[in-house]
Amino acid sequence: MLKVEDKLGRNVYKVDKEGHIRINQEICRTKCAPKYCIFVCPAKVYSLDEKGDVHSNPDGCLECGACVIACLEEALDWHYPRAGFGVQYRLS
Ligand code: SF4
Repeated sequence: MLKVEDKLGRNVYKVDKEGHIRINQEICRTKCAPKYCIFVCPAKVYSLDEKGDVHSNPDGCLECGACVIACLEEALDWHYPRAGFGVQYRLS
């Protein structure tokens, strides 16, 4: 049986030069201590830098929406990638 990571590795991502996730750093920095997005994202899109600021690399985003739900301060400007871009799931 395949592990989740192996299954996700089969997906194809068409990366748009225009990212579909923007972080309001002011809100994120000043209002959000727990940084839940880092823990809920199955694709590990979010990371912390040495100063404690959150950054995103949306290239592997699965478009699940978990980060938007987890971001209690609404610091994320998230929308689906433009048509033709983003994840293409491969089930076999
Ligand atoms: Fe991660 Fe899902 Fe948010 Fe994409 S939509 S960044 S996969 S939590």
